[in-house]
Amino acid sequence: MPSQIAGPEIERLIQLLARLPGLGPRSARRAALHLIRKREQLLDPLAEAMRVAHDRISTCSVCGNVDTRDPCTICADERREGSMLVVVESVGDLWALERADATRGRYHVLGGVLSPLDGVGPEDLNLASLVARVAAGGVKEVILAVNATVDGQTTAHYVTDLLAPHAVEVTRLAHGVPVGGELDYLDDGTLAAAMRQRTAF
Ligand SMILES: [Zn+2]
Repeated sequence: MPSQIAGPEIERLIQLLARLPGLGPRSARRAALHLIRKREQLLDPLAEAMRVAHDRISTCSVCGNVDTRDPCTICADERREGSMLVVVESVGDLWALERADATRGRYHVLGGVLSPLDGVGPEDLNLASLVARVAAGGVKEVILAVNATVDGQTTAHYVTDLLAPHAVEVTRLAHGVPVGGELDYLDDGTLAAAMRQRTAF
């Protein structure tokens, strides 16, 4: 085992930083050193922001989003289109769609996907509240913005069946050529899906 280069407090900071996605031990050390050097500009405000976030963050009781208010900022925004419900797997996916300004609809976060191999069943997902929202009326279209993975598509089929008794149109995202993508570099599955889902000019 390599000898320690700093006291236990700093070692602990490095160990915790190393658990963040995208940070290995090496970059965690760099981040820790950066924070220590920028103690007043960065370390103090970061510690305070983390403490406030920890105290105030909750899960939205309507859509499953994470925010510091309940209902969340998006659910509370009356300008959002209530007739369109965008179903996503995770808060990260919701953030991605918002970043892209892809929809003015409202969201519903499933909190995962069906995965028999990992023991994730329908009761583990935010499905009952989805059906309740649709049953309450006002929703005309449910957009299944789930990942184009096997589990994601399995989940999409399951949700479609679940919503079949309700008078709502269920759509899903198109699969195909990415913006700026070159055909020669696409995998066979994507190319075939893009051909199947071609649209008129
Ligand atoms: Zn919400």
